[in-house]
Parts: sequence; C-alpha cells; structure tokens
Amino acid sequence: MFSCKDVTEHASDHLEGALPWRVALQLRVHLLICEHCRRLLRQMRAVSGALGLLGFGAATTRRRPAQRWTELAVGALAGAAVVLAVWLLPSFTGIERQVYAHAIDRHAQPGPTLPSAEVAIKLAVVGARLNGELPGVVFADRCDFFGVAITHLIVQTSTGAVAVMLLPEHAKAQKFTRGGRVGRIEAFGNGTLALLGPDAGSIDEVVARVRAAVEWPA
Ligand SMILES: [Zn+2]
Ligand SMILES: [Zn+2]
Repeated sequence: MFSCKDVTEHASDHLEGALPWRVALQLRVHLLICEHCRRLLRQMRAVSGALGLLGFGAATTRRRPAQRWTELAVGALAGAAVVLAVWLLPSFTGIERQVYAHAIDRHAQPGPTLPSAEVAIKLAVVGARLNGELPGVVFADRCDFFGVAITHLIVQTSTGAVAVMLLPEHAKAQKFTRGGRVGRIEAFGNGTLALLGPDAGSIDEVVARVRAAVEWPA
C-alpha cells in the first residue's frame, strides 16, 4: 500500500500521466483514504495548470491522436480497477493480506549483511532489543505499515530471503500461503511477529533466530 511519502514521490509523474498503471492504481487507492494527499495533488494540479497557461510544457502536451486514444483506454481501465479495488477494500483488512502486500512490494534488492548496531537501532523503533547475534540480516528499517510504525527486517537463509516484521499490535496467529509465498503470524514479545518467505523451513529457521536474539519487553 502507498504511504503519504510514496504519493509525494510519485505525484508529478502521476500528474503527467507517466506512472505505470499498477503504481497509479495504488496511488489512487491511497487518495481515496487520504484527504491530505488529495489536497496536495489539487494544489500541484493548480500550479501546473497555471504554468501550462503561461506556455510552459506546451510541447509535451501535444500528442498524436492514436496515443491520446491509448491513454483514454488505459485511463478507463484504471478507473475500472479503482472501482474494483474499492469493492475489495472491506476484505482487505486481514492482517495476512497486509503482511503480504507490504512485504512483497518493497525492499526487492537487499544488500550485504548489516552490522548488529544498525539492526539494534531499527529494532528499537518498536521497543525491541537485540540480545545477541541475529545472523543474516540484509535489510533493516522502520516502515510505515498501514499507518503503524514497524521494524522490518529481511533475513537471508540458505533457501532464500525471509521478510520479518515486528508489529506493535496483537493479531491472531496463523499460517498462510499467498502468491507462491509462505507466511506466518505469531505472538511475540510485546506484539506480533509476521514473516513471509519462500517455504515453511526457512520461516522456522528465521523464527528460531529471532526468538534467540531479540527481546521485546512490554
Ligand atoms: Zn496520504
Ligand atoms: Zn517495510
């Protein structure tokens, strides 16, 4: 899901109609729920309209008719997709869907193994502590998870990378499979541990590593 920061990053491309439709769709869904970003885009549109009247960017708005029709068709499809997305929204509240949506869309290219000090800083976002060695962490950050600040790690195993999210809220424990990925949600410390990985074995391994090295007091 798009955060307000994502919207500001993509806003000018959106106004130029230059966003890939998947990204445009995510942006539109965010606009449905965020008055702040709707206002931001209204203001940007007003400014770019004023610049257009002054003749700035006139060359880029002159387009071949065929291209215009393609854009109209794509616009109509995007509109239909938004209607579909709104229709689906009530069922998009399950924690496993949110975990999947967040983990699958981001942090596609993790780098080398991070030093423990850096991991500890990101764990502190939710009040968790590193109490030993947590091997294989290739990504650690504070993320906006549907409006909640979470710690998001990616831990490398021999069978692939596992996304680990420390959610500072309590959720029902469950195992799920979605989009060819295996997920797990379980109680941990002062909140919930959510994982998404290539298979159950890699998730078992990472859960054991996290539980051995991370302390999350209430
Ligand atoms: Zn927003
Ligand atoms: Zn994240």
